[in-house]
Amino acid sequence: MKCQNCGTENKQEAKFCKKCGKPLVVTPVWKPTLIWHLKVLGIIYLCLILLFFLLNHLLKPYMRKLPQEITPWLYQK
Ligand SMILES: [Zn+2]
Repeated sequence: MKCQNCGTENKQEAKFCKKCGKPLVVTPVWKPTLIWHLKVLGIIYLCLILLFFLLNHLLKPYMRKLPQEITPWLYQK
């Protein structure tokens, strides 16, 4: 791996640069955590649920024009 400080090529397993002595740490790529995943999935599901209710609300007048047999949930009491 290359030293990020001076650019000297070092051994793959080297922890410090042989030339300048700086630690050869590769800045870790951002790794999403479990909490992050849960948050994002929660937001996605919330959006889907909201979209469902919104579409349901918007499409109700149109669905009423459809035969009762295929939209029985609109006529439930
Ligand atoms: Zn170096």
